Amino acid sequence: MLRKAVGGKGLVDYHLHTRRCGHATGAVADFARAAEEKGLLEIGFADHIPQYFLPEDRRDPGLAMPEEELSAYVAEVLETAAGFKDLEIKLGIEADYVPGREQALEAILGRYPFDYVLGSVHYLDGWGFDNPAEIAGYAGRDVDALYREYFQLIQQLAASGLFDVVAHPDLLKKFGCRPRGDILPLYEETVRVIAASGMAVEVNTAGLRQPVGEIYPAPLFLELCHRYGVPVTLGSDAHRPDDVGRDFEQAVTLLRRVGYREVAVFERRRRRYRPLR
Ligand SMILES: [Zn+2]
Ligand SMILES: [Zn+2]
Repeated sequence: MLRKAVGGKGLVDYHLHTRRCGHATGAVADFARAAEEKGLLEIGFADHIPQYFLPEDRRDPGLAMPEEELSAYVAEVLETAAGFKDLEIKLGIEADYVPGREQALEAILGRYPFDYVLGSVHYLDGWGFDNPAEIAGYAGRDVDALYREYFQLIQQLAASGLFDVVAHPDLLKKFGCRPRGDILPLYEETVRVIAASGMAVEVNTAGLRQPVGEIYPAPLFLELCHRYGVPVTLGSDAHRPDDVGRDFEQAVTLLRRVGYREVAVFERRRRRYRPLR
């Protein structure tokens, strides 16, 4: 008998975006129903935090929800969570790390009962390097210098103590900008800082749907995480209900090969573990 494709049965998806962010489709409940159908045990919403790091007139409603919608987002997640019995639903947020704006971020995070906070770097000095509309920005840049700049920010993010998880740790490769030469020292330096911070890293399958065609982070980076005892979370980065748990079979295969046997989950910013099935 043919088995139905199961995206994430028995697993956890901690990186879901809803229509509130302006570039995704589906409400919280639509994602929850999709997760239930696919047999996930637990999901977490991590919509993009309002662009607190930009002046109000430069914020883009197509990239993140406006600040006045944040409390409605929180309420929608909490209300939906109360209505699902066999699926645990957590309240997360994906927050950009922007040097110098730590206090503003801390103030927003303190206002809501988040279970976890994903920390992301989507900008290098104001350049949205993962935004298809800004892809021309790669022209003429030195790849090694970009990698140093990006991973130094990831290290600062980890050292800030504001986040629980490093989201898509090597997002810089999204459009195919892969590291050249010996990347090991930079990766190792970064993983040591993450390990010292007590954070987890996210294994994110969205890279498979992008030009790079590879899970975030690269296997070498994940091997270092395992060696230094860094826990992992699992996320699809779904921007539509169909993508919940997408390609998790590949993520689990990678994780098991590297040596992971459990994934981290969070409740009110305290970490627990679930076995990797
Ligand atoms: Zn998004
Ligand atoms: Zn992101």
